Amino acid sequence: MALKALDIYKLLPKKNCKECGDPTCLTFAMKLAGGKGDIDLCPYLDENAKTVLGATTRPPIRLVKLGVGERSISVGEEFVFYRHEKTFYHQPGIFFSVSDNDTIDQIKKVTTIVRDETLTRVGVDLHFSGLAIRNESGSADPFARVISAIEEIADLPLILISDNPNALNNALVHCGTYRPLIYAADSENYKVLCEISKKHGCPLVVKASGLEKLAQLTKMCTKEGVTDLLIDPHPQTLGDFITASSTIRQLAITRMAPDLGYPVFYDASKTGQQDAAIALGIVKYASVIITDPFSTASTKAALTLRQNIYTDPQKPIQMNPGLYRIGSPNKDAPVLLTVNFSLTFFTLEGYLESTRIPCFMLIVDTEGLSVLTSVAAGKLNETLVRDSIKKFEVENEINHRKLIIPGYAAPLSGRIEEATGWKVLVGPRDAAEIGEFLIQEWKK
Ligand code: SF4
Repeated sequence: MALKALDIYKLLPKKNCKECGDPTCLTFAMKLAGGKGDIDLCPYLDENAKTVLGATTRPPIRLVKLGVGERSISVGEEFVFYRHEKTFYHQPGIFFSVSDNDTIDQIKKVTTIVRDETLTRVGVDLHFSGLAIRNESGSADPFARVISAIEEIADLPLILISDNPNALNNALVHCGTYRPLIYAADSENYKVLCEISKKHGCPLVVKASGLEKLAQLTKMCTKEGVTDLLIDPHPQTLGDFITASSTIRQLAITRMAPDLGYPVFYDASKTGQQDAAIALGIVKYASVIITDPFSTASTKAALTLRQNIYTDPQKPIQMNPGLYRIGSPNKDAPVLLTVNFSLTFFTLEGYLESTRIPCFMLIVDTEGLSVLTSVAAGKLNETLVRDSIKKFEVENEINHRKLIIPGYAAPLSGRIEEATGWKVLVGPRDAAEIGEFLIQEWKK
């Protein structure tokens, strides 16, 4: 069971020396209790404290990094069973599978899709994660050739899938320092795959049917010195997957089975119901999902679902504050102020676009709160408006000094005028009425 902050505090040296990066031992204890600290940051822990804290304060599911560079991803380090209890932290990687029997042209086409395809949603660019290469030829050379072809055109996380240790070893030489994920160790081959994993510094998937066997296998791999592991419970049906992955999550986060405390691997392409399997994988705790390349509609659905599930329910989605243009506004165009709550932004942006009146949107940082809430909480105030006008150099973009504020911010109009010297026009409360407002009030 996880220790509470005060129990952890009792085991700390209480020097308050700040060497761990926290101002006091108590704040360090609170961080450890939340699963976010690292006991190695305190140089003064005695052996007993290290043993007790080491077992109880590590994240219950190991964090594993796949790939290197800008497109690398981290999976695992989750703490809860239900998203609303806190949040889910590391979204699953979705990998398109290719075969070393495919032509190099086909491989490059899929690689380009994974590299370039982007869905921009609520201001965030969403991508697929990488490629899973199947060694279906059974030989080392075609496998290595495919990997070289991919690496010529993209720096993406890779998964190497093969039953042939020689093919894996040979292919890994072509991967340089890219740390691909190796699939998969079982009870027969785990020693040799652990050697390969250690030699090339790559994470390793272990697979077994049955959670007991899976736990035994992770234990054996860690004894061999490989700790960056993912686990594949090898489900036969979608129902098997839900049962296995839910049980693994429950046992891992309650620390009842630390040997199952690893991210879950799921091959959705082998299910015969790929779209449903991907959705289940996203919702039910898979950390790496393999799929065959799929249609645009399925792509949008998968990326949207993943974004929704892995958005912190306690934090509103925010836009970056700044000056945004609708159309091509000139120096006489209206400036409309609003908050950086993404729903407010996109609603207003949609209505403004439909008016076809070029204008500026001045988005101020209210930490994602809506207009009404940020006015009530004092986050939207005259100082913020004045500083934002200055920071985003709004006065350089226009000739006039008029600002349209949302109807719900009407109580601030006088104070904004005083702080900025601008004339404030109070807009409608409902964004749907902004077109009518601009025609009536701005153009007259
Ligand atoms: S380094 Fe250790 S002793 Fe020093 S403040 Fe942090 S927890 Fe306390």
